[in-house]
Amino acid sequence: MCSLNCPGIGKSTGHSKWECTSLSKSKICNQSVAGLIGDLEAIAPLRCLLTRDCDPQKWQIIQSMETHTEKRMQVKELWKNNEIKVVDVIRRKWGMQQFAEDDIHKVCGVLEVRLILLSPAECLPII
Ligand SMILES: [Zn+2]
Repeated sequence: MCSLNCPGIGKSTGHSKWECTSLSKSKICNQSVAGLIGDLEAIAPLRCLLTRDCDPQKWQIIQSMETHTEKRMQVKELWKNNEIKVVDVIRRKWGMQQFAEDDIHKVCGVLEVRLILLSPAECLPII
């Protein structure tokens, strides 16, 4: 865990016990708080990815969601942003190589499609 007073102890959402355990084993522990601020874009995708191992039923739901991958790939600025701010942060900066680049892009797509297409009232929290 990140600390003895971790707010994630026993929680299944938000800064959950799964997130806490994963981050405490990653290279993120070597970063300062200021260094983490620039990486916050990777947290929501990471929470989706963590369901793969900690909540397979939710992972299946995420896997069934629209990602518009082909269309998003054509938006070079968006795709590059995801490469730098999410894929590189999770896999290289935090050292979580267990998550494939394709899966990271898929969860980015799930989040982006829901962000763009749904109004807040229609959104259901999944992570
Ligand atoms: Zn924690």
